Amino acid sequence: DESLASFDPDVHAAITAELARQQGTLELIASENFAPVAVMEAQGSVLTNKYAEGYPGRRYYGGCEHVDVVEQLAIDRVKELFGAEAANVQPHSGAQANAAAMFALLDPGDTILGLDLAHGGHLTHGMRLNFSGKLYDVVAYHVDETDFRVDMAEVERLALEHEPKLIVAGWSAYPRQLDFAEFRRIADMVGAYLMVDMAHFAGLVATGLHPSPVPHADVVTTTTHKTLGGPRGGVILSKAGLAKKINSAVFPGQQGGPLEHVVAAKAVAFKMAASPDFKERQERTLEGARIIAERLTRPDVVEAGVSVLTGGTEVHLVLVDLRDSALDGQQAEDRLHGIGLTVNRNAVPFDPRPPMVTSGLRIGTPALATRGFGADAFAEVADVIAEALKPTYDEGAAAKLRERVAALAAAHPLYPGL
Ligand code: PLP
Repeated sequence: DESLASFDPDVHAAITAELARQQGTLELIASENFAPVAVMEAQGSVLTNKYAEGYPGRRYYGGCEHVDVVEQLAIDRVKELFGAEAANVQPHSGAQANAAAMFALLDPGDTILGLDLAHGGHLTHGMRLNFSGKLYDVVAYHVDETDFRVDMAEVERLALEHEPKLIVAGWSAYPRQLDFAEFRRIADMVGAYLMVDMAHFAGLVATGLHPSPVPHADVVTTTTHKTLGGPRGGVILSKAGLAKKINSAVFPGQQGGPLEHVVAAKAVAFKMAASPDFKERQERTLEGARIIAERLTRPDVVEAGVSVLTGGTEVHLVLVDLRDSALDGQQAEDRLHGIGLTVNRNAVPFDPRPPMVTSGLRIGTPALATRGFGADAFAEVADVIAEALKPTYDEGAAAKLRERVAALAAAHPLYPGL
C-alpha cells in the first residue's frame, strides 16, 4: 500500500488537519480561495512527471504530445477569457510572472515606478529586499493622505521627473479600482511601458465586474489562485508584439521546466472562470465586501475606533482602519483567530504603528463566496467581526461569537467529499 496515509502518516496527518481547519473556520484572507476539486485533480495528476522545456510544438524533450494539448488549451482559454493577444501560462507564481515580465522589458538599472508596499503595493513592485528593488532603480508612488486613493497627480509628477521605463499599476491591499486609461496616458507621456498586475482582481475582470486593464497595458500579469480561484501559479498576458520577448524571459530567462500539472489546473480554472456560475460567485464576492464595509462603518462600530479605509470598497476586500482604536492590527487578528475567523493584519498607509503590529486588517470575501456565502451570511460575518472588535469583548462574548462562526461554517460545507 503506497497511499500517503500509510507511507507518510506525518505529512498525511498535517494535510488532514489543514482540511479540517479550512472546513471549520472562516477564511477571510483576501488573497486566498478554495480551488475546486477538478482543479486539484489536474494539479495532482501524472503531468507532474513530465519535462517540457519550451512551448507547445517547440519542446526540448520528447513525449510532449499530451502536455502540448494541455498547455495550448490553457493559453487559448486565458486569451479568450481576458481578450488578450498573447499569453504565457508557465510562471510558477505571481512573483515569477512579474520577474519575467520585468526581465523582458527592462535592463538592470532601469527605473520603475510602482505603488509603495506600505500603501498597498506588492513586494515585486519595487520593495527594497525584493529582486525588483535590487535590480531596478525604484521610484514609489503613494495614496493621498486625505482620501487614501492612489494619487494620480503624484504618479504624473514622478513619471515626468524620473522618466521610468516601466510603470506598474496594481496592488495587494487597496479597496478601489485603478484608472488604467490614466496610467496609460501618463506612461505615453514619458514613453514608459505600462504593466498592470491584476493578481488580486483578475476574477472580477474575467467576469466583467471590474474594468479590464488588458486594452490599456503592454503587459498584464496575474496569479491564478486569488479571485480567479484556480491553482497557485502565475500568468503573463501581453500585446502580440511582446510575446516573443516574454516567452524568452520566462524560459530560458527565469525558469526551467514548466509545471504542466499546474498548467493543466490553470486550464481547468480558466474554463471555470468563463462559466455563469463563476460570474455569480464573483457578484457575491463583491456584494459580501460591500456588506462588510457597510456594517463596519455603522455608528456603534465607529465609536469603538474602527473604520474602513476610503469609506467602502469597489473590489473583493475591505481595509479596516484601527488607527483610532485601542486594538492594534496584531491584537485584532488574534481576536478574530480566537473565534475562528482568519484575516491578516495589514499596515494602513501612514501607519503610526510598527509593520509587525500595524493598524489595520485586510478582509477579503473570495473564499467565503466560493463556499456559497450570500448576503445574509456575509452580514452575519460582518456583525461577528464588529462585535469582536468592541472594547466590551470578553471571554463570554468570545464563546457566543465562536458559536455563530461555527454555525456559519456548518451551514456552508466545504469539500464535503474529501
Ligand atoms: N502580485 C500581487 C499584486 C500580489 O498580491 C501577489 C501575492 O500576494 C503576487 C503578485 C505574488 O504572487 P505569488 O505569491 O504567487 O508569488
